[in-house]
Amino acid sequence: MVDASTRLIGILGFPVHHSLSPRIHNAALRAQGINMLYVGLAVPPAQLTTAVAGLSALGFLGANVTIPHKEAVIPMLDRMTDRAKAVGAVNTLVVRDGLLLGDNTDVAGFLAPLARHRLGACRAVVLGAGGAARAAVYAVLTALAPRVVTIAARRLAPAERIARDFAPFGPVQVTRLRAAAGHLADAQLIVNATPVGMHPDAEATPWPDAAVFGPGQLVYDLIYRPGTTRLMREAAARGATVLGGLPMLLGQAAAAYRQWTGKAMPLPAVRKELEHMR
Ligand code: NAP
Repeated sequence: MVDASTRLIGILGFPVHHSLSPRIHNAALRAQGINMLYVGLAVPPAQLTTAVAGLSALGFLGANVTIPHKEAVIPMLDRMTDRAKAVGAVNTLVVRDGLLLGDNTDVAGFLAPLARHRLGACRAVVLGAGGAARAAVYAVLTALAPRVVTIAARRLAPAERIARDFAPFGPVQVTRLRAAAGHLADAQLIVNATPVGMHPDAEATPWPDAAVFGPGQLVYDLIYRPGTTRLMREAAARGATVLGGLPMLLGQAAAAYRQWTGKAMPLPAVRKELEHMR
């Protein structure tokens, strides 16, 4: 029940109406009987400074931050975790003793479902060079000790920026997406960090030539809607193991939830809330 003691958490983005985070967090809060409410906060870029200052003033416990504010919010923080500094993007804010702390839980979310797979010393290819690709490249380099991570992007400049920023963490190289076939065929881990194949354009795929996929590969599509993308279907048909983006979404949410509530997210209740998406 929402009452005068209800504490607030929100997601700052623009737009935010499509976000699943309010449903995820409110399902978890309800299941645990916690008197907190998670709301969507559509904040235009010109209002971000005022909105972020208002979080503490209004007694918010914290917030998630999504497109287009993940980098813009950084100068407004009192402190940042090392991983948020390294990735250069913040997706979670925690208000503690009047101070605003910034974290990046996308890295933990990305890694959560990989724990079950043996990927040591792998060759990895990350398709795309946006925000999700940054988190994925950083996560693979720092947690998996790969032989090499190849960023395959249609524009080289953003891929080269990621490679330069993360070179201290391990071997990373770039290629144009259209020239990536050899890298894909050699890879044990392939991550789709482009939106190609996402609802409503679910018949699209970032790599239409499925001949590069085969047994011994894990194809990890960060898209969570649809739950099974064309890329995943075609890679699975060639014998690859496949993984969709929902576990990452839940992993990043659970890591943030723990910081606001001090509790583990009740994942069965959250999965039930999202059941129709499979
Ligand atoms: P972003 O910052 O906009 O980056 C998108 C990247 O994909 C850019 O490198 C972009 O290249 C590339 N791209 C876009 N359209 C393309 C196309 N038609 N062909 C080839 N490359 C294309 O977006 P993001 O935040 O990284 O998100 C990327 C995907 O990851 C989305 O599907 C998102 O839903 C998913 N994601 C999932 C989670 C999760 O928790 N599962 C978390 C974050 C993101 P250009 O720069 O050339 O446009």
